[in-house]
Amino acid sequence: MKLHYIKHRPLSWLFMLVLVCSFLFCQSIDINAEEESDDNAEEELSEYDLRLDLYQKTETLTNIPWYYLAAIDQYERNVNDFPDTRLTGIQVPDEEWYGSLAFDSESTHLQKTIQLFGGSGLDGNGNGFADDQNDEDVLYTVGTKLFEQLSRGHTYDEILEEYYDREKAAKLINQYAKLFRHFESVDLNKRVFPIPRYHNYSFQSTWGAGRGYGGNRIHEGTDIFASYGTPVRSVSYGIVEIKGWNRYGGWRVGIRDTDNVYHYYAHLSGFENDIEEGSIVEPGDVIGYVGSSGYGPEGTSGKFPPHLHYGMYRDNGKHEWAFDPYPHLKRWDFE
Ligand SMILES: [Zn+2]
Repeated sequence: MKLHYIKHRPLSWLFMLVLVCSFLFCQSIDINAEEESDDNAEEELSEYDLRLDLYQKTETLTNIPWYYLAAIDQYERNVNDFPDTRLTGIQVPDEEWYGSLAFDSESTHLQKTIQLFGGSGLDGNGNGFADDQNDEDVLYTVGTKLFEQLSRGHTYDEILEEYYDREKAAKLINQYAKLFRHFESVDLNKRVFPIPRYHNYSFQSTWGAGRGYGGNRIHEGTDIFASYGTPVRSVSYGIVEIKGWNRYGGWRVGIRDTDNVYHYYAHLSGFENDIEEGSIVEPGDVIGYVGSSGYGPEGTSGKFPPHLHYGMYRDNGKHEWAFDPYPHLKRWDFE
């Protein structure tokens, strides 16, 4: 009897051990499964989603519509260099943020201290510090400042023109805000080739070549040859800034996107019906038709073979310059 008992004892211990181990094993599988799904959720959030989240969060704190915050950020992203560690590109000057503490702008300071020294930097993430390199702190500060000034009866245009000391800044920021609001997104970077795929066209790199009209101008764009009446599409999301006659470009349309690139479509035979100055377009929207207008007074046509002249101009916050669209066209044609 005794022997029997002793014989069984180790077996029951073994049994318990197996039970405990399998329980722990299952637990760890569960934890791993959870970790995996968390990782997936993070991967699905793009940089655009994260930024949109930040703007919307700041809207609830400051009452400034998210698309205005996004537009101000977009304007600064286009003209500033900013570290990879940040999602947003707004940079508030040291004197503005730190007041007379600006001499010590290298270290992070408590919001209380900054206010004592007359700075406007605020703590948006609730850690007590107002850090001019923290996205939440910066957006919260900008939103709060803007709301204060709007409450005093100033308009967005007045505030932005004065802050950036540039009339065009207000105009660009308003355009971006309009686009973000309309498309309910800050991810407006899709591009397409300006001529639909099923039409015949050809183009070569013609950047900088001399041209026959208007003196010693160099060719600032790419000519895409196609028959009269071939549809011309907007390459990007954007707002129609200019539509009408120009003695070089003939009937032409100018569209600005949110990267602050101005897309120029010239020598058209006509415009699409609903295209007006101020119209909002998306990639692929037909804006007009290939022609040979230009090189003379309004209505001049047929002085050269029909083609689309496509140009790209960038604004850096101070001035605008042309760059070669050919590499971009090559890529969009391939895609
Ligand atoms: Zn051209």
